[in-house]
Amino acid sequence: MQIISALKDIPGASPSGGNRLVALQPHRHMVQEHVSDTPDFGAAHPKIEVTGLSVYYGKTQAIKDVSVTIPEKRVTAVIGPSGCGKSTFLRTLNRMNDLVPGVKVEGSVLLDGMDIYSPHVDVVELRKKVGMVFQRPNPFPKSIWENVAYGPKCQGITNRATLEQIVERSLREAALWDEVKDRLYSSALELSGGQQQRLCIARALAVEPSVLLMDEPAASLDPISTTRIEDLISQLRNNYTVVIVTHNMQQAARVSDYTAFFLMGRLVEFDATEKIFTRPSRKETEDYITGRFG
Ligand code: ADP
Repeated sequence: MQIISALKDIPGASPSGGNRLVALQPHRHMVQEHVSDTPDFGAAHPKIEVTGLSVYYGKTQAIKDVSVTIPEKRVTAVIGPSGCGKSTFLRTLNRMNDLVPGVKVEGSVLLDGMDIYSPHVDVVELRKKVGMVFQRPNPFPKSIWENVAYGPKCQGITNRATLEQIVERSLREAALWDEVKDRLYSSALELSGGQQQRLCIARALAVEPSVLLMDEPAASLDPISTTRIEDLISQLRNNYTVVIVTHNMQQAARVSDYTAFFLMGRLVEFDATEKIFTRPSRKETEDYITGRFG
């Protein structure tokens, strides 16, 4: 088995400790009934519990009966060949698929134990809790400051000092503050692509989400900007649950604690990243990570 060399740098990927199930006990019934191969999450609590998820675009079934539990304050990578359903899966976690005409979602997605597909859920509130960053940075054509303050302003925050604190905190958390603090009122479009992507992350963080979904966040960036985004993701795990779709396996190995491997709409294997890339349980996973297909 070829071992991806970048794996030696995985932060926090190696599980340790024996009695880790203790922290999972309130949710054990879910895990035992629906997910036979949930890995040991150590001290992390389950954040998102997906059960029997199927997603259809008209007659095309993009996600097939997926059950998986995503741990809190860890980075979970979603990998798999193009078209296997990675983005669709990610978008079900904050109901972005609702915007696609003809989409049908079956199964359940619990966030902190609450069903996000319940008719009582306010989708705008949900998307504040579960923020999203896309492949191409998409800042508003406004100043850096306005980009970050936009969400809090929509939430009704008008006090200037409060907004300034939020802008600074968010830009610091997105590792952008030092680069932009002297030009907060310049257009966001003057920033480099990598800076724009970190600005989009700051914009997502400004409304205090607990989950950050990232769909190929470094795919359009140069290698140095990519490294900065990867370093940032490693930092974010201290405060946020991160789910990242990436077609770049080395990136998954570098940034994530857990990895879910999808193939043709199914979840083939979900485990600690270190295990997926060195000792996968399934032949399909091994074939994929060793480059035999995909
Ligand atoms: P990935 O992110 O792994 O490349 P996607 O989730 O984008 O995969 O796509 C999974 C399947 O769903 C593919 O067959 C794709 O063609 C289909 N699909 C994705 N988005 C749509 C859409 N908006 N309408 C119809 N089919 C879609």
